[in-house]
Amino acid sequence: MVPFLDLKAQYRQIKPEVEAAVLRAIESTQYVLGPEVTTFERRFAEYCSAGHCLAVNSGTSALHLALLAADVGPSDEVITVSMTFVATTAAVLYSGATPVFVDVDPITWTMNPDLIEAAITPRTKAILPVHLHGLMADMDPIMEIARRHGLTVIEDAAQAHGAEYKGRRAGSIGDLGCFSFYPGKNLGAYGEGGAVVTSNPELARKVALLRDWGQEAKYNHVVAGYNYRMDGVQGAVLNVKMNYIEAWTEGRRAAALDYDRHLARLSITGPRQPSHSRHVYHVYALCLPRRDETLSALQEAGIGVGIHYPVPVHLQKAYASLGYGVGDFPVTERLATQFLSLPIYSELQSEQVAEVVSQLEKLHLVAAA
Ligand SMILES: *Cc1c(COP(=O)(O)O)cnc(C)c1O
Repeated sequence: MVPFLDLKAQYRQIKPEVEAAVLRAIESTQYVLGPEVTTFERRFAEYCSAGHCLAVNSGTSALHLALLAADVGPSDEVITVSMTFVATTAAVLYSGATPVFVDVDPITWTMNPDLIEAAITPRTKAILPVHLHGLMADMDPIMEIARRHGLTVIEDAAQAHGAEYKGRRAGSIGDLGCFSFYPGKNLGAYGEGGAVVTSNPELARKVALLRDWGQEAKYNHVVAGYNYRMDGVQGAVLNVKMNYIEAWTEGRRAAALDYDRHLARLSITGPRQPSHSRHVYHVYALCLPRRDETLSALQEAGIGVGIHYPVPVHLQKAYASLGYGVGDFPVTERLATQFLSLPIYSELQSEQVAEVVSQLEKLHLVAAA
Protein backbone atom coordinates (compact mmCIF):
# COMPACT_ATOMS: atom_id res chain seq x y z
CA MET A 1 0.00 0.00 0.00
CA VAL A 2 1.44 3.34 -1.07
CA PRO A 3 -1.11 6.19 -1.07
CA PHE A 4 -1.04 8.69 -3.93
CA LEU A 5 -0.97 11.56 -1.44
CA ASP A 6 -0.68 11.62 2.36
CA LEU A 7 -1.74 15.00 3.75
CA LYS A 8 -1.89 13.51 7.27
CA ALA A 9 1.85 12.81 7.26
CA GLN A 10 2.58 16.51 6.73
CA TYR A 11 -0.02 17.55 9.28
CA ARG A 12 1.59 15.35 11.95
CA GLN A 13 4.91 17.21 11.53
CA ILE A 14 3.39 20.64 12.13
CA LYS A 15 0.35 19.79 14.29
CA PRO A 16 1.14 21.81 17.46
CA GLU A 17 2.48 24.78 15.53
CA VAL A 18 -0.33 24.97 12.98
CA GLU A 19 -3.08 24.40 15.56
CA ALA A 20 -1.73 27.23 17.72
CA ALA A 21 -1.57 29.52 14.66
CA VAL A 22 -5.15 28.71 13.63
CA LEU A 23 -6.44 29.35 17.15
CA ARG A 24 -4.55 32.65 17.29
CA ALA A 25 -6.13 33.65 13.96
CA ILE A 26 -9.60 32.81 15.26
CA GLU A 27 -8.91 34.61 18.54
CA SER A 28 -7.78 37.72 16.64
CA THR A 29 -11.18 38.01 14.87
CA GLN A 30 -9.37 39.06 11.68
CA TYR A 31 -11.18 36.52 9.56
CA VAL A 32 -10.69 38.05 6.12
CA LEU A 33 -7.28 39.38 4.97
CA GLY A 34 -5.66 40.97 8.07
CA PRO A 35 -2.15 40.69 9.56
CA GLU A 36 -1.60 36.93 9.02
CA VAL A 37 -2.40 37.34 5.33
CA THR A 38 -0.22 40.45 5.04
CA THR A 39 2.71 38.61 6.63
CA PHE A 40 2.19 35.69 4.29
CA GLU A 41 2.10 38.01 1.27
CA ARG A 42 5.43 39.55 2.27
CA ARG A 43 7.04 36.15 2.76
CA PHE A 44 5.63 34.58 -0.40
CA ALA A 45 6.65 37.58 -2.55
CA GLU A 46 10.18 37.19 -1.20
CA TYR A 47 10.08 33.43 -1.81
CA CYS A 48 9.14 34.07 -5.45
CA SER A 49 11.67 36.94 -5.86
CA ALA A 50 8.73 39.17 -6.78
CA GLY A 51 8.04 42.70 -5.58
CA HIS A 52 4.43 42.09 -4.58
CA CYS A 53 2.07 39.26 -3.60
CA LEU A 54 -1.70 39.56 -3.37
CA ALA A 55 -3.38 36.66 -1.59
CA VAL A 56 -6.76 35.54 -2.92
CA ASN A 57 -9.28 32.77 -2.34
CA SER A 58 -8.14 30.33 -5.06
CA GLY A 59 -5.72 29.78 -7.90
CA THR A 60 -8.58 30.25 -10.32
CA SER A 61 -9.33 33.69 -8.82
CA ALA A 62 -5.61 34.52 -9.09
CA LEU A 63 -5.67 33.73 -12.83
CA HIS A 64 -8.91 35.66 -13.34
CA LEU A 65 -7.55 38.78 -11.60
CA ALA A 66 -4.17 38.59 -13.35
CA LEU A 67 -5.99 38.57 -16.70
CA LEU A 68 -8.22 41.50 -15.68
CA ALA A 69 -5.24 43.47 -14.36
CA ALA A 70 -3.59 42.95 -17.76
CA ASP A 71 -6.75 44.46 -19.33
CA VAL A 72 -7.70 41.20 -21.00
CA GLY A 73 -11.37 41.28 -21.92
CA PRO A 74 -13.98 40.45 -24.56
CA SER A 75 -12.62 40.48 -28.13
CA ASP A 76 -9.12 39.57 -26.87
CA GLU A 77 -7.35 36.25 -27.36
CA VAL A 78 -5.04 34.53 -24.87
CA ILE A 79 -2.56 31.91 -26.07
CA THR A 80 -2.35 28.97 -23.67
CA VAL A 81 -2.17 25.16 -23.60
CA SER A 82 -4.79 22.42 -23.51
CA MET A 83 -2.62 20.06 -21.39
CA THR A 84 -3.57 21.61 -18.05
CA PHE A 85 -6.27 21.63 -15.40
CA VAL A 86 -9.45 23.25 -16.79
CA ALA A 87 -9.05 26.28 -14.47
CA THR A 88 -6.49 27.85 -16.83
CA THR A 89 -9.02 27.91 -19.66
CA ALA A 90 -11.97 28.76 -17.40
CA ALA A 91 -10.21 31.88 -16.10
CA VAL A 92 -9.65 33.15 -19.65
CA LEU A 93 -13.35 32.64 -20.37
CA TYR A 94 -14.32 34.42 -17.09
CA SER A 95 -12.43 37.48 -18.38
CA GLY A 96 -14.55 37.39 -21.55
CA ALA A 97 -11.55 36.59 -23.77
CA THR A 98 -11.04 33.59 -26.05
CA PRO A 99 -8.44 30.91 -25.20
CA VAL A 100 -6.28 29.93 -28.18
CA PHE A 101 -4.40 26.68 -27.63
CA VAL A 102 -0.97 25.65 -28.85
CA ASP A 103 0.53 22.18 -28.48
CA VAL A 104 3.13 21.26 -25.87
CA ASP A 105 6.72 20.15 -26.35
CA PRO A 106 7.11 16.34 -26.44
CA ILE A 107 10.07 16.37 -24.02
CA THR A 108 9.13 18.97 -21.38
CA TRP A 109 5.33 18.66 -21.80
CA THR A 110 5.01 22.47 -21.46
CA MET A 111 4.03 25.12 -24.07
CA ASN A 112 6.03 24.67 -27.28
CA PRO A 113 7.44 28.16 -28.01
CA ASP A 114 7.95 27.29 -31.69
CA LEU A 115 4.18 27.21 -32.16
CA ILE A 116 3.33 30.55 -30.55
CA GLU A 117 3.95 32.99 -33.39
CA ALA A 118 1.62 31.14 -35.78
CA ALA A 119 -1.15 31.52 -33.17
CA ILE A 120 -0.74 35.29 -32.75
CA THR A 121 -3.46 37.45 -34.35
CA PRO A 122 -4.24 41.19 -34.07
CA ARG A 123 -6.55 40.23 -31.17
CA THR A 124 -3.88 38.43 -29.10
CA LYS A 125 -3.39 40.17 -25.76
CA ALA A 126 -1.52 37.71 -23.54
CA ILE A 127 0.38 34.43 -23.34
CA LEU A 128 -0.50 32.09 -20.46
CA PRO A 129 2.03 29.24 -20.15
CA VAL A 130 1.46 26.51 -17.55
CA HIS A 131 4.32 25.12 -15.46
CA LEU A 132 2.90 21.61 -15.74
CA HIS A 133 3.65 19.13 -12.92
CA GLY A 134 6.11 21.62 -11.38
CA LEU A 135 8.45 22.15 -14.34
CA MET A 136 8.60 25.70 -15.67
CA ALA A 137 7.73 26.35 -19.31
CA ASP A 138 10.56 27.50 -21.61
CA MET A 139 10.31 31.14 -20.53
CA ASP A 140 13.15 32.77 -22.52
CA PRO A 141 11.62 32.31 -25.98
CA ILE A 142 8.12 32.95 -24.59
CA MET A 143 9.22 36.31 -23.12
CA GLU A 144 11.13 37.22 -26.28
CA ILE A 145 8.07 36.60 -28.50
CA ALA A 146 5.79 38.43 -26.06
CA ARG A 147 8.03 41.50 -25.92
CA ARG A 148 8.34 41.60 -29.72
CA HIS A 149 4.56 41.54 -30.10
CA GLY A 150 3.69 43.71 -27.07
CA LEU A 151 1.90 40.89 -25.21
CA THR A 152 1.52 40.36 -21.47
CA VAL A 153 2.82 37.09 -20.02
CA ILE A 154 0.94 35.47 -17.13
CA GLU A 155 2.51 32.34 -15.61
CA ASP A 156 0.15 29.64 -14.38
CA ALA A 157 2.43 28.54 -11.53
CA ALA A 158 -0.34 26.72 -9.61
CA GLN A 159 1.81 23.55 -9.60
CA ALA A 160 5.22 25.21 -9.37
CA HIS A 161 5.89 26.87 -5.99
CA GLY A 162 9.65 27.41 -5.80
CA ALA A 163 10.40 26.02 -9.27
CA GLU A 164 13.25 27.71 -11.14
CA TYR A 165 14.21 28.43 -14.74
CA LYS A 166 17.83 29.55 -15.25
CA GLY A 167 18.02 30.58 -11.60
CA ARG A 168 14.77 32.56 -11.64
CA ARG A 169 11.76 31.60 -9.58
CA ALA A 170 8.33 30.64 -10.94
CA GLY A 171 6.07 33.67 -11.06
CA SER A 172 8.93 36.19 -11.33
CA ILE A 173 9.66 36.04 -15.07
CA GLY A 174 6.27 36.87 -16.61
CA ASP A 175 4.45 40.13 -15.90
CA LEU A 176 2.28 38.26 -13.40
CA GLY A 177 2.46 34.81 -11.79
CA CYS A 178 -0.50 32.87 -10.37
CA PHE A 179 -0.38 30.29 -7.59
CA SER A 180 -2.89 27.92 -6.00
CA PHE A 181 -2.82 26.82 -2.36
CA TYR A 182 -5.45 24.10 -2.84
CA PRO A 183 -4.68 21.49 -0.12
CA GLY A 184 -3.00 19.02 -2.48
CA LYS A 185 -0.68 21.58 -4.09
CA ASN A 186 3.01 21.81 -3.05
CA LEU A 187 2.06 24.62 -0.67
CA GLY A 188 -1.45 23.84 0.52
CA ALA A 189 -3.87 25.77 2.72
CA TYR A 190 -6.50 24.04 4.89
CA GLY A 191 -9.14 25.07 2.40
CA GLU A 192 -9.00 27.13 -0.78
CA GLY A 193 -6.34 29.76 -1.45
CA GLY A 194 -4.30 31.41 -4.17
CA ALA A 195 -2.03 34.35 -4.93
CA VAL A 196 -0.89 36.66 -7.68
CA VAL A 197 2.73 37.80 -7.66
CA THR A 198 4.17 40.62 -9.74
CA SER A 199 7.02 43.10 -9.65
CA ASN A 200 4.95 45.74 -11.44
CA PRO A 201 3.44 48.07 -8.79
CA GLU A 202 0.60 49.21 -11.08
CA LEU A 203 -0.48 45.60 -11.78
CA ALA A 204 -0.22 44.85 -8.04
CA ARG A 205 -2.45 47.83 -7.25
CA LYS A 206 -5.07 46.66 -9.76
CA VAL A 207 -5.12 43.09 -8.38
CA ALA A 208 -5.39 44.41 -4.81
CA LEU A 209 -8.39 46.55 -5.79
CA LEU A 210 -10.13 43.86 -7.84
CA ARG A 211 -9.93 41.17 -5.14
CA ASP A 212 -11.64 43.43 -2.57
CA TRP A 213 -14.69 44.86 -4.34
CA GLY A 214 -12.65 47.52 -6.14
CA GLN A 215 -12.53 49.53 -2.91
CA GLU A 216 -9.90 52.23 -2.62
CA ALA A 217 -11.32 53.03 0.83
CA LYS A 218 -14.32 51.56 2.61
CA TYR A 219 -17.44 52.06 0.42
CA ASN A 220 -15.43 53.93 -2.19
CA HIS A 221 -15.60 51.54 -5.15
CA VAL A 222 -13.41 52.78 -7.99
CA VAL A 223 -13.63 49.66 -10.19
CA ALA A 224 -16.20 46.85 -10.40
CA GLY A 225 -14.41 44.22 -8.32
CA TYR A 226 -14.90 40.81 -6.77
CA ASN A 227 -14.90 39.11 -3.39
CA TYR A 228 -11.71 37.12 -3.91
CA ARG A 229 -10.00 37.80 -0.57
CA MET A 230 -7.99 35.23 1.37
CA ASP A 231 -9.24 34.11 4.83
CA GLY A 232 -7.17 35.02 7.89
CA VAL A 233 -7.08 31.37 9.00
CA GLN A 234 -5.58 30.32 5.65
CA GLY A 235 -2.97 33.07 6.00
CA ALA A 236 -2.04 31.66 9.42
CA VAL A 237 -1.75 28.09 8.08
CA LEU A 238 0.35 29.22 5.12
CA ASN A 239 2.66 31.25 7.38
CA VAL A 240 3.47 28.11 9.35
CA LYS A 241 3.99 26.13 6.14
CA MET A 242 6.36 28.78 4.72
CA ASN A 243 8.86 27.61 7.37
CA TYR A 244 8.92 24.19 5.71
CA ILE A 245 8.32 24.77 2.01
CA GLU A 246 11.97 24.51 1.01
CA ALA A 247 12.56 21.33 3.03
CA TRP A 248 9.36 19.79 1.61
CA THR A 249 10.35 20.75 -1.92
CA GLU A 250 13.76 19.13 -1.42
CA GLY A 251 11.95 16.04 -0.07
CA ARG A 252 9.90 15.82 -3.28
CA ARG A 253 13.03 16.28 -5.39
CA ALA A 254 14.81 13.53 -3.47
CA ALA A 255 11.88 11.16 -4.01
CA ALA A 256 11.88 12.06 -7.72
CA LEU A 257 15.60 11.39 -7.97
CA ASP A 258 14.99 8.03 -6.31
CA TYR A 259 12.33 7.19 -8.94
CA ASP A 260 14.61 8.46 -11.73
CA ARG A 261 17.42 6.13 -10.66
CA HIS A 262 15.17 3.06 -10.47
CA LEU A 263 13.31 3.82 -13.68
CA ALA A 264 16.46 4.35 -15.74
CA ARG A 265 16.93 0.54 -15.57
CA LEU A 266 13.43 -0.10 -16.86
CA SER A 267 13.71 2.24 -19.88
CA ILE A 268 10.48 3.94 -18.89
CA THR A 269 10.06 7.59 -19.86
CA GLY A 270 9.66 9.81 -16.82
CA PRO A 271 9.85 13.56 -16.32
CA ARG A 272 12.91 15.18 -17.89
CA GLN A 273 14.12 18.43 -16.39
CA PRO A 274 16.42 20.59 -18.49
CA SER A 275 19.72 21.15 -16.62
CA HIS A 276 18.85 24.83 -16.08
CA SER A 277 15.54 24.04 -14.36
CA ARG A 278 14.52 23.19 -10.81
CA HIS A 279 11.54 20.85 -11.14
CA VAL A 280 9.42 20.79 -7.96
CA TYR A 281 7.49 17.61 -8.82
CA HIS A 282 3.94 18.50 -7.93
CA VAL A 283 3.33 15.45 -10.10
CA TYR A 284 5.77 12.69 -11.05
CA ALA A 285 4.38 11.41 -14.35
CA LEU A 286 5.44 8.54 -16.53
CA CYS A 287 4.67 8.20 -20.20
CA LEU A 288 3.57 4.65 -20.93
CA PRO A 289 2.35 3.19 -24.22
CA ARG A 290 0.09 0.68 -22.39
CA ARG A 291 -0.99 3.12 -19.70
CA ASP A 292 -4.48 1.86 -18.89
CA GLU A 293 -3.33 -1.71 -18.22
CA THR A 294 -0.51 -0.47 -15.99
CA LEU A 295 -2.89 1.85 -14.17
CA SER A 296 -5.34 -0.88 -13.21
CA ALA A 297 -2.57 -3.31 -12.27
CA LEU A 298 -0.93 -0.75 -9.98
CA GLN A 299 -4.30 0.05 -8.42
CA GLU A 300 -4.87 -3.65 -7.75
CA ALA A 301 -1.44 -3.79 -6.09
CA GLY A 302 -2.48 -0.99 -3.72
CA ILE A 303 -0.43 1.77 -5.33
CA GLY A 304 -2.12 5.17 -5.50
CA VAL A 305 -1.94 6.46 -9.06
CA GLY A 306 -3.51 9.27 -11.06
CA ILE A 307 -3.61 10.85 -14.52
CA HIS A 308 -2.79 14.53 -15.01
CA TYR A 309 -4.71 14.90 -17.28
CA PRO A 310 -6.71 12.16 -19.04
CA VAL A 311 -8.78 14.43 -21.30
CA PRO A 312 -7.17 17.61 -22.64
CA VAL A 313 -9.23 20.78 -22.21
CA HIS A 314 -9.87 21.13 -25.96
CA LEU A 315 -11.63 17.74 -25.97
CA GLN A 316 -13.76 18.40 -22.86
CA LYS A 317 -17.49 18.67 -23.53
CA ALA A 318 -17.69 21.88 -21.50
CA TYR A 319 -15.35 23.66 -23.93
CA ALA A 320 -16.64 22.17 -27.19
CA SER A 321 -17.87 25.61 -28.26
CA LEU A 322 -14.25 26.70 -28.68
CA GLY A 323 -14.38 24.63 -31.85
CA TYR A 324 -11.41 22.32 -31.42
CA GLY A 325 -11.42 18.61 -32.18
CA VAL A 326 -9.44 15.38 -32.15
CA GLY A 327 -6.13 15.75 -33.97
CA ASP A 328 -5.67 19.47 -33.33
CA PHE A 329 -2.87 19.01 -30.74
CA PRO A 330 -1.20 15.64 -31.37
CA VAL A 331 1.41 15.80 -28.58
CA THR A 332 -1.17 16.86 -25.98
CA GLU A 333 -3.54 14.11 -27.13
CA ARG A 334 -0.84 11.42 -27.05
CA LEU A 335 0.29 12.47 -23.55
CA ALA A 336 -3.31 12.30 -22.31
CA THR A 337 -3.41 8.62 -23.29
CA GLN A 338 0.08 7.84 -21.89
CA PHE A 339 0.47 9.87 -18.68
CA LEU A 340 0.45 8.01 -15.38
CA SER A 341 1.25 9.85 -12.12
CA LEU A 342 3.00 8.00 -9.29
CA PRO A 343 2.78 8.82 -5.57
CA ILE A 344 5.00 11.78 -4.71
CA TYR A 345 5.26 13.92 -1.58
CA SER A 346 7.99 14.98 0.79
CA GLU A 347 7.24 12.25 3.35
CA LEU A 348 7.37 9.43 0.76
CA GLN A 349 9.93 6.91 2.04
CA SER A 350 12.53 5.26 -0.18
CA GLU A 351 11.03 1.84 0.71
CA GLN A 352 7.73 3.13 -0.68
CA VAL A 353 9.43 4.30 -3.87
CA ALA A 354 11.06 0.85 -4.11
CA GLU A 355 7.66 -0.82 -3.69
CA VAL A 356 6.11 1.27 -6.47
CA VAL A 357 9.05 0.51 -8.74
CA SER A 358 9.01 -3.21 -8.00
CA GLN A 359 5.32 -3.34 -8.95
CA LEU A 360 6.11 -1.49 -12.18
CA GLU A 361 8.99 -3.82 -12.82
CA LYS A 362 6.76 -6.90 -12.55
CA LEU A 363 4.33 -5.42 -15.04
CA HIS A 364 7.10 -4.38 -17.34
CA LEU A 365 8.55 -7.88 -17.41
CA VAL A 366 5.14 -9.36 -18.11
CA ALA A 367 4.51 -6.82 -20.86
CA ALA A 368 7.89 -7.54 -22.45
CA ALA A 369 7.45 -11.34 -22.31
C1 LIG B 1 -4.87 23.81 -9.25
C2 LIG B 1 -4.68 24.53 -10.54
C3 LIG B 1 -5.38 25.72 -10.85
C4 LIG B 1 -6.52 26.23 -10.03
O1 LIG B 1 -6.26 26.46 -8.72
P1 LIG B 1 -7.48 26.39 -7.63
O2 LIG B 1 -6.82 26.89 -6.40
O3 LIG B 1 -7.91 24.98 -7.54
O4 LIG B 1 -8.55 27.30 -8.12
C5 LIG B 1 -5.05 26.38 -12.02
N1 LIG B 1 -4.11 25.91 -12.85
C6 LIG B 1 -3.45 24.76 -12.61
C7 LIG B 1 -2.41 24.32 -13.58
C8 LIG B 1 -3.73 24.03 -11.46
O5 LIG B 1 -3.07 22.89 -11.24
